[in-house]
Amino acid sequence: MFNSTKQCYCKLLFQFQHKLKQTSRACSLRVKEALPESLLEDRKYDNDEYEETDSEITFRFKDLTTNLCSPDQLRTKPDTADLKFGHVFTDHMLKIFYHRKLGGWQKPVIIPFENLSLHPAAKVLHYAVELFEGMKAYRGVDGIIRIFRPDLNMTRMNVSAQSSGLPTFDGHEMSECLKRLLQVDSEWVPHGEGSSLYLRPTLIGIDGTLGVQQSDSALLFTIMCPVGNYFDGNNDAVSLLADPSFIRAWPGGSGDKKVGSNYGPTIRVQKHAISKGRQQVLWLYGPDHQLTEVGTMNIFMFYEDEFGGKRLVTPPLSGLILPGVTRQSIIQLCEQWREFPLEQRSITMGELVKLQKRGKLLELFGSGTACIVSPIKSIEYMDELIEIPTTEHQNPIYRRVRTELQMIQYGHIKHPWAQPIE
Ligand SMILES: *Cc1c(COP(=O)(O)O)cnc(C)c1O
Repeated sequence: MFNSTKQCYCKLLFQFQHKLKQTSRACSLRVKEALPESLLEDRKYDNDEYEETDSEITFRFKDLTTNLCSPDQLRTKPDTADLKFGHVFTDHMLKIFYHRKLGGWQKPVIIPFENLSLHPAAKVLHYAVELFEGMKAYRGVDGIIRIFRPDLNMTRMNVSAQSSGLPTFDGHEMSECLKRLLQVDSEWVPHGEGSSLYLRPTLIGIDGTLGVQQSDSALLFTIMCPVGNYFDGNNDAVSLLADPSFIRAWPGGSGDKKVGSNYGPTIRVQKHAISKGRQQVLWLYGPDHQLTEVGTMNIFMFYEDEFGGKRLVTPPLSGLILPGVTRQSIIQLCEQWREFPLEQRSITMGELVKLQKRGKLLELFGSGTACIVSPIKSIEYMDELIEIPTTEHQNPIYRRVRTELQMIQYGHIKHPWAQPIE
C-alpha cells in the first residue's frame, strides 16, 4: 500500500515537472517572438523622430543602466605595490548583449562583477570567436582620472569584430559607457605615478551551436584591474630570444588584429624563451628574419646611419604588425619633435647585427599599453648573444618617449589624448 502511494506521487511529480518545462519553453518562445515589436514600440515613445532600428548598428550610452553592488559586495582594494597583472578585479563590469533575432544590440548595463554563464557549445569556447582590447585610465596629479585615446582602441576593436564576423558598434557610445564604468569604480584607480587601472573590453561569440559560422549572438563586456608600477628604476631592460622557427603572424593572417586566437599559441614559445633564460620572444618573419614584435609589444630601433645622423625606425603596418596605440602615439610625438627622422620600414636581423657590430645600434625598445615603453638589453639569435646598449646612454629616446607619454597620461600637461572621465 505504502509503496504504491509513493509510486503514484512520483508519477504525479514527474508529470507536473514535464508540464512546467513545456510551459516555460512556450513562454520563452512567446517572449522571443514578442520582443522585436516591443522594442520598436519603446523607440516610438522614446523619440518623436523615428530613427532606423538603431540597435542593429549600435547600442547607445543613453540606454545604459547601472546596478550597483550592495555595500557588503564591495571588495577590499589591494596594495598596488605588490599587484600581479590581471589578478584582482574591480567591483563592477559592463555588459552588452547582441542578439540578431532580437533586433541586434541590447541595452548596456553596469552590474556587480560576476561570472559568465555560457552554453557549452558557445562559439568562443570552440573556435576562439573572441577579441579584446587593452587600455588604461590614470589618476592625474590633479586628482582627475583620464583615459588614454579610447577612440583608437574602439576603432581597432571594430576592425577586430568585423574580421571575426562579430557585430560592430559605435565606438564613441562604447567609450562613453567605459567612462561611466570608470566613474562607478573610480576608487579603484590607484594613486601614484606609474600605477593605473587597466580596462579589458572583450567581445565573444556566444551562439550555442557548433557550426563554424558567424555567431548570431554576442556578448561585449569590460572588466578592469588595478596595476602597479611596471618600471621601477633603470634595471627594467629585458632580454629576448629570437628564433626564426617560431612565427606569430603572416601575410593574409590575423596577426594585425587583437583576436584571442593569436595569443594562446604563443604561450609555449614564451615558455621556451624562459627556459633558455630569456624574458620575452622577439618575433621574426621571413627568410630575411624581419623583426616584427616583442612579446605583445611593437618594436622600435634607434640607430646611427652611415652619415652619422640618428634615426628611429619601426616596422610598417603590413599585416604582420598589431597597430598599437602606443606605437602610433610615439610616431606622432617624434613627428612633432622633428629632431630625427622616423621611418616605417622593415628591419632585418642582418641589419641589426651589422649596426651592433659597428657600434651604431643605439637603442631597441618595445611599446604597448601594459608597460608603455620597455627597453631591450640583449637578443639571443642563432646561438649568439647580441648586447644592446639601450639603457647606457645619457638621455635615451626610450626614456624621453616614456616620460612624455607619462606627462600626458598623468595630467602634467593638458593634452587631447588624455580624456577626463567627467
Ligand atoms: C596589444 C598589442 C600591442 C600594443 O598595442 P597598444 O595599443 O600600444 O597597447 C602590440 N603588439 C601586440 C601583438 C599586441 O597584442
